[in-house]
Amino acid sequence: MSKQPQDSAIPRDPPSSVKRQLRQEAGFGCCVCGSPFFEYHHIIPFGEKPHHEPADMMILCPNHHHEANVGAMDDSAQRKSKGNPFNIDKGYVLGQLAVASRTLAVELGANLFIGSGMKVVVDNEPLLQIGMAEERRLALSLDVHAEDDAPLISVVDNEWITGDPLPWDLEFGYRWLKLRLRHHEIALSIDARQEIVRVDGDFWRRGQHFTVSPAELSFNGVDRNIGFTGLGFVAATFIVDTKKREFAIAPDPVFKQMSMVSRPTLPEVLTDGLKSYQSILEKQKPGRNDPCPCRSGEKWKRCHGA
Ligand SMILES: [Zn+2]
Ligand SMILES: [Zn+2]
Repeated sequence: MSKQPQDSAIPRDPPSSVKRQLRQEAGFGCCVCGSPFFEYHHIIPFGEKPHHEPADMMILCPNHHHEANVGAMDDSAQRKSKGNPFNIDKGYVLGQLAVASRTLAVELGANLFIGSGMKVVVDNEPLLQIGMAEERRLALSLDVHAEDDAPLISVVDNEWITGDPLPWDLEFGYRWLKLRLRHHEIALSIDARQEIVRVDGDFWRRGQHFTVSPAELSFNGVDRNIGFTGLGFVAATFIVDTKKREFAIAPDPVFKQMSMVSRPTLPEVLTDGLKSYQSILEKQKPGRNDPCPCRSGEKWKRCHGA
C-alpha cells in the first residue's frame, strides 16, 4: 500500500523548484494569454487531492485562473494550453517582460536608477519594485492600497498574491505593460522596449498619494524633489518616510553599498553607471559557478562575470 500524504503535510504554496519549472515551461506567462502576472493553478484541484505535481499544474493569469476554477475552462482545455503555452507558441520564450540588457536602468524623477532596478519603500514596506529575475525577465512587485488604505493589489515577483483580478484592466505586449484599476486613480505603466526602462505610476499608500514617472517623483502632489537631476544612482533604494514627509536614497541591502555618478547627458550617466555597477558586483567576489549577485539566477561566469 502506498503511503497517503496527510493534508497538513502539504502546504498550499508550491515549493519554489516546482514554481520555477512551471514558469519556465510556460515561457514566464499565463499559458492561455501570456500575461506576465500569474498564479499557480492545480489542474487536479488541491482540495480534491493535495499535491504539487508539475504534470498536473500550470501557470495562469488571475482571470484565466478564475475561469479554470469556476469550470468555464475545463480540464482538457487547461491541459491543451499547458501543452502549448501562449508565450512559447509566439516565440516569447523569455516571457512577456524580457528586458533588453543584462543590467537594469530605470529613469525616475529625471535621474537614472542602475543595477538592482528600482525600489520605492514606504515606511519600511515596499510599494513598488522593479528588478531583474531569471532569464533576463523583469520582476515586478507591487503593494498598493486605496485612498482609504484598503488593500487593492499585492504582486510579488510577478506572482499575483491578492487582489480580485476582475476590476483590473491589464494590457501588455512583449516588453511593456499597463495596469489600471477601473474607477480608481491607480495605474502603472512599464515600458522596457529601450535600454532605459520607463515607469509611470500613480498610487496610494497609507492615505498618501505617490506619482512616479521618468520626469517626476512626487508625494501628495508636492514635488518633493530629491533636489537634483541628471544623476545615476547605482545599486540604490528609494525610501519614503511619511511621518517626516521625506525622501531618502539608501544602498541596496544586498550590496550594502551604492554609488552615484554625475555626467552631462543621460547616455553618459548610463555608460558610467553600468561600469560602477560592474565593480560593485565584483566586490562581492563571487566564484565562477556561484549565482551572479545581480539576481539573474545565472552563474557568475555566464552573467556579469563573463
Ligand atoms: Zn491569461
Ligand atoms: Zn549578473
